[in-house]
Amino acid sequence: MTDACATPDLLSLENALSQIANALPPYNQYEQLPLKQALNRVTYSDINSTVNVPSFRNSSMDGYALSSKNSATKSLTVIGTSWAGKPFTGDVPTDCCLRIFTGAYVPNDCDCVVMQENATQLNGTIKINKPTQLDDNIRHIGDDSKCGELVLPSNTIINAANIGLLASCGITDVAVYKQLNVGFFSTGDELASIGASLELGQIFDSNRYTLAAMIEQSGAIPIDMGVIVDNPQAVETALLSASEQCDVIITSGGVSVGEADYITDVLSKIGTVNLWRIAIKPGKPLVFGFINGSAFFGLPGNPVSVMVTYQQIVRPILEKMMGTGTHSNRLLLQAKTTAKLYKQPGRKEFQRGFVENINGQLVVSSTGEQGSHMLRSMAEANCFIVLEQETGNINEGQLVTVQLLGTNT
Ligand code: AMP
Ligand code: MG
Repeated sequence: MTDACATPDLLSLENALSQIANALPPYNQYEQLPLKQALNRVTYSDINSTVNVPSFRNSSMDGYALSSKNSATKSLTVIGTSWAGKPFTGDVPTDCCLRIFTGAYVPNDCDCVVMQENATQLNGTIKINKPTQLDDNIRHIGDDSKCGELVLPSNTIINAANIGLLASCGITDVAVYKQLNVGFFSTGDELASIGASLELGQIFDSNRYTLAAMIEQSGAIPIDMGVIVDNPQAVETALLSASEQCDVIITSGGVSVGEADYITDVLSKIGTVNLWRIAIKPGKPLVFGFINGSAFFGLPGNPVSVMVTYQQIVRPILEKMMGTGTHSNRLLLQAKTTAKLYKQPGRKEFQRGFVENINGQLVVSSTGEQGSHMLRSMAEANCFIVLEQETGNINEGQLVTVQLLGTNT
C-alpha cells in the first residue's frame, strides 16, 4: 500500500533542496572579529600563518642539550641552562652540554636533547646512559605551521582547537561570515503563550521556543516576532513588516489546506511561492518563497514537523548561506533495528530513534509513537531514522540509515 498523503506532484527532498539553493542569491557578507569572539563562526577567507610555529628550535623534554657527535661513554660538562622563555645564547663546545627544559631554545651548537631520565648527573657533569641521535627530542622551526602556510581554509566553522591554532600563529582578528537575521512567527488562533492560563481549546505555543533554539544552534540570529492570528490581513501585515528587517523569515502553521491556512495564499499575493509540498514525513506542506528579497520558509504547525523540516531543509540552507555545509555532507551511519518499523512507500521518512553502540554494533530503536504532534518522540531521540521515499516496512535486524541529532552532525 502506498502512503495516502503522497501524491505524484510532491517534490523529492533532494529536488527541493537544490531548487531552494539555486533560487537564493549569494550571501557574501562578512565582518572582522577579534579572535576570542570567533568561536562557532565561519571563516570568510583562507587564513595563512604569518610566522613559523615554533619560530625557534626547542626542546620537547626536560634534559640536556648537546651535540650528537658526543659518544655515550664520555662525561660532559654542564655549562649553563636554557629555560623556557630564558634562552641560553652562548656557545656550547663539544664535550659540553646544557641543562634544558621543555620549550626552551636549543642553541645552534646542539642538535639533540637527552631526557634527564637517560643521564646521570655528577658534580656539574653528566654521563649519558643511552645512545643519542641527531634531532632526538628537538622541535624544529615551523614543524606545526610554516610562515605563509594555510592554517584554516575559508568556510570552516571555527572550533576551540582552531582558535588555539590561530592564536599560536599570532592572528588577532578573523574575517567571518555575518550571521543571518532570522525572524520567526507562530501562527494560530489556538496558541497561548507560556505563563498564561489555558482556555478550553488552547495549547501552549512551543514552536517559537524550538525554532529560537534551532536557529541559534545554526549560528544565525533568532528574532522572535510573536504570534500571528489566523487572519489573512494579519498574516500579510506581519510578513511584510518582517521582510523589512530579516534576511530569512520562518513561520509555523497555516500551510496546509484547511480553511484557516492562509500562509501560502498570502505569500503568493505579497511575494513568490517557489515551491510547496515535499515528499517527506512529517513535514509535507512546507512552502518556500521570497518576500521583498527575504527568503521565506512556511513550516507546518505540528511541533515534530517543525523540527524535521527545520533540520532537513532550513538548517542546510542557512548553513550554505552562511558559508558552510551542503545538504549532502551530514554524517549518516548504518544501524541495526531492534524491531519492525512501519512505513508506506511514497515519502522519505524521518522517524525518531535512539541509536547506541552495543558490543561494537550500532543498534537503533524507535522512540515509540511517531505522531507529528508528539514532541516527546523527538525529545527522547538522539537520531533520525532516515527511510528512503520508496521504502516500505523494515524488518527487525535490518540495517537502516541514521542521522545523528546534534549541533555538529
Ligand atoms: P496547522 O499547520 O496550523 O494546521 O497546525 C497543525 C497542528 O500544529 C495543530 O494541531 C496546531 O494546533 C499545532 N500547532 C500549530 N502551531 C503550533 C505552535 N506554535 N506550537 C505548538 N503546536 C502548534
Ligand atoms: Mg493553524
